[in-house]
Amino acid sequence: MLFDAHTHLNFLKYTDKQREDLASEIEASEVEYVMDAGDSLESCLLTVKNCNKYSWCYGAVGIHPHNAKDMDEETLLFIENLAKKDKIKAIGEIGLDFYYDKSDRDEQRYWFRRQIQLANKLKMPIMIHSRSADKETIDLLKEEGAFSDERKSWFPKKEGPGGEMHGDARVQIHCYSGSKETAVQYIKLGAMISIAGPITFKNNRKTVEVVQEVPIEFLLAETDAPYLTPEPHRGKTNKSTYVEHVVRRIAVLKKLTFEEASAITLNNAKIFFNI
Ligand SMILES: [Zn+2]
Repeated sequence: MLFDAHTHLNFLKYTDKQREDLASEIEASEVEYVMDAGDSLESCLLTVKNCNKYSWCYGAVGIHPHNAKDMDEETLLFIENLAKKDKIKAIGEIGLDFYYDKSDRDEQRYWFRRQIQLANKLKMPIMIHSRSADKETIDLLKEEGAFSDERKSWFPKKEGPGGEMHGDARVQIHCYSGSKETAVQYIKLGAMISIAGPITFKNNRKTVEVVQEVPIEFLLAETDAPYLTPEPHRGKTNKSTYVEHVVRRIAVLKKLTFEEASAITLNNAKIFFNI
């Protein structure tokens, strides 16, 4: 039982045949659910299609910071309408990318804010992409009320490792690559840390420390396929069935069995996306 909490079955370069083959592989695997993340208007439309076609597919719709340059009011309205469709469970992936800077930073900031506002308006979970922009991502999320008490009041509290109850802001930090200190800060604000393939890379001390530090109640497992292929498949195209390798690594680091880590991360994702 696995849940790939962030993938791109909607990847625009897949042929229909490739997408159908990936779907068949998912159906024959232990993967029970995938969260298909939109990053452009075209990919969001495909996400809606995938959700209608496959019982195990759920979706997030939003415009990636790379594509902020193509955003306008009409597109935002379109995203809002898609977000109201059946099985669309989050707004994402949205955020800031100051590593590639494919869109002007002010445009990234503006549309990030507008899409957080949209998630608040619709009371939906938020899926964050943040690269080389840790501090500003947190600042913008705070300023737009993504961690506000009002937002947390829309979702049931979450039980922590000691049975204590935490306010849940339903904010997923996708493919988390920051420090353990920032991860702890996010958890305290009510976010979830989502772990992808790089956790399996040999030299990745930083994310190993994050997984050791953050209680498993606050972890999600994802692939970000077709990107970021985990070991032992590095060099090949990533796919949702490889989420197994991410969960295996989490299990080892948390001293749990694979079955335990699978069940917990699946349950975390089901709660997060309200499935
Ligand atoms: Zn992604």
